[in-house]
Amino acid sequence: MTVLVLGGAGYIGSHAVDQLIHQGYEVAVIDNLLTGHQAALHPKATFYKGDIRDKEFVRFVFAKETIEGVIHFAASSLVGESVEKPLKYFNNNVSGTEIVLEVMREFSVKHIVFSSTAATYGEPEENPITENTPTNPKNPYGESKLMMEKMMRWCDEAYGIKFVALRYFNVAGAKADASIGEDHNPETHLVPIILEVALGQRKQLAIFGDDYNTEDGTCVRDYVHVEDLIAAHILALEYLKAGNKSDVFNLGSNSGYSVRQMLEAARQVTNKEIPAEVAPRRAGDPATLVAASDKAKTILGWQPQYTNIKEIIETAWKWQVNHPYGYQEKGDAKDD
Ligand code: UDP
Repeated sequence: MTVLVLGGAGYIGSHAVDQLIHQGYEVAVIDNLLTGHQAALHPKATFYKGDIRDKEFVRFVFAKETIEGVIHFAASSLVGESVEKPLKYFNNNVSGTEIVLEVMREFSVKHIVFSSTAATYGEPEENPITENTPTNPKNPYGESKLMMEKMMRWCDEAYGIKFVALRYFNVAGAKADASIGEDHNPETHLVPIILEVALGQRKQLAIFGDDYNTEDGTCVRDYVHVEDLIAAHILALEYLKAGNKSDVFNLGSNSGYSVRQMLEAARQVTNKEIPAEVAPRRAGDPATLVAASDKAKTILGWQPQYTNIKEIIETAWKWQVNHPYGYQEKGDAKDD
């Protein structure tokens, strides 16, 4: 029996494939390699290059493999881009998931765990955010993920396909041995950008706004280590296999760090100055997003191992130092 990982060549998906294989699962991967990297794939995974929106291709994979469950990371995930190109997000994320569910139904595959997001909550009035906090997405990315959640709920009622939606807060870090890590092009996330400045690949960090209603005026986020995040996916898959009901869980650390606190922690980890300058606010950034993750701990038995922000940054730094050009060799143009 095989676990099918959709988007298994991406940052988060590649850590999932790696951890599943280390735990003894058979793994098949679908990835279109538009943002993923073949070099990030574990050699023991069976790789199918293609797009989840291509129903015949997805059917081909389901016919070849004996799939016991799906873990779904194959989605576009840039908030800013989603505002500019909403239809790309509804097509890739929503239509892609619809095809996956159709094929799951056809092949009687009953379990799916998938990446949702704190962006489904929009700008909540209260922190920490629980799973009962009302959803009110403020951008097409968050809306597309909420639509995916809703689609799954109705497929559960109609076809008995059970799902776990994991609402991620801010994912960071890399595998401890630095063999896989974060490599986006363009990079938009805070931790890798800070570390690119530390490495001298960028001049300085632009701090997007210091006039928010937070302690130091910069935005507060909840950072969770990618390996801990993946551990929750595997627990969720086992939870479904044990016959439990569909559900939604937040994945975060229950503690918030401001942009300035992250910068300071990175300065300590890297021992570099890391120049920074305050820049205008980035559109659509809520002041504070902090998760209450007690539900995942209680129901899934999730126990995050990385509880210190410096340890999270340390793993990202080790990756960055060992792979300053990501998965590309030095001198190659980054073209994905
Ligand atoms: N941020 C920043 N400068 C950057 C990138 C990000 O100040 O170059 C801030 C951003 O405004 C947000 C936080 O860092 O408050 C985390 O941003 P990221 O894009 O990593 O994740 P998001 O919270 O948007 O999912």
